[in-house]
Amino acid sequence: MSSLPLIDPDNALFLDFDGTLADLAPRPELVQVEAGLVGTLRTLHRQLSGAVAIVSGRTIAELDAFLAPLQLPTAGVHGAELRDAEGRRLEVPAPDLDRLHRRLEDFAQAHPGLRLERKPMALAVHYRAAPELEMLVREQVAQALGDVSGLEMLHGKMVVEVKPAGVTKGSAVELIMRSPPFAGRMPIFAGDDVTDEDGFAMVAHLGGVGVLVGQRQSAATVSVPAPADLRAWLHRSARALESGRAGTAPAPHAAASGRDTGTDTPSGTTSESTSGISSETTPVAAAAAGPSGTGANPSASTTSS
Ligand SMILES: [Mg+2]
Repeated sequence: MSSLPLIDPDNALFLDFDGTLADLAPRPELVQVEAGLVGTLRTLHRQLSGAVAIVSGRTIAELDAFLAPLQLPTAGVHGAELRDAEGRRLEVPAPDLDRLHRRLEDFAQAHPGLRLERKPMALAVHYRAAPELEMLVREQVAQALGDVSGLEMLHGKMVVEVKPAGVTKGSAVELIMRSPPFAGRMPIFAGDDVTDEDGFAMVAHLGGVGVLVGQRQSAATVSVPAPADLRAWLHRSARALESGRAGTAPAPHAAASGRDTGTDTPSGTTSESTSGISSETTPVAAAAAGPSGTGANPSASTTSS
């Protein structure tokens, strides 16, 4: 995989939350936000003229609570909830999850390691406390879902979810990229989970860069080992943008829409730091112009229908 250049003022940033901005915890409610992260996100939001969005499986309300008082443009529940840069809420029609919830309640209660979570737009069975139940959870959710139309299963890290069909982190990125201040920018999507592959594929389609947190086969073009490395990159990029060190190279291209900068793709080089990410200020467009990394199938998400 390519190394990871610092964030450029003409980038648009899409960030997953769990396992990307924040370290994973034994239970979703125990996740902690590192001191300083909210300040860095605020700086990046200002420096990128508002083009910083959170894209997560969590609800927007949960994400707002974690990042308070900051309220960024956000795609919650894998894109089923959406708050744009103007603060407007767009939501796909709420699916009827009552029957499915009833079917899974007894199953979840029979296994103390499982947690059934009801969200406004989705339903999740978490098995982090009982990883040996993974196959059973998958079977039970698939069985309970049956042939209900308009819903689909999504396999994440230690969780199986049921959400509106066709709504993914990729569709959320695509929608957000249509409007200012995102339109015309080169998108970067950072995520850790298989559910983030849709986001990686979409930013690749838009001429952008996918940043995988962790190691596995992925459509992402760049990787960092852990959330701490991702945060270090954000902190370093924010400092560089504040001091005016970034943004000296030509603006990157954008395949999405909107303004066309008509400039060349920069050809700067990067060097690896000990943390595995670049310490240079080459715009991320340089990484996008490189080879596509792992060569994994961008559609190799575990989302099923
Ligand atoms: Mg994640």
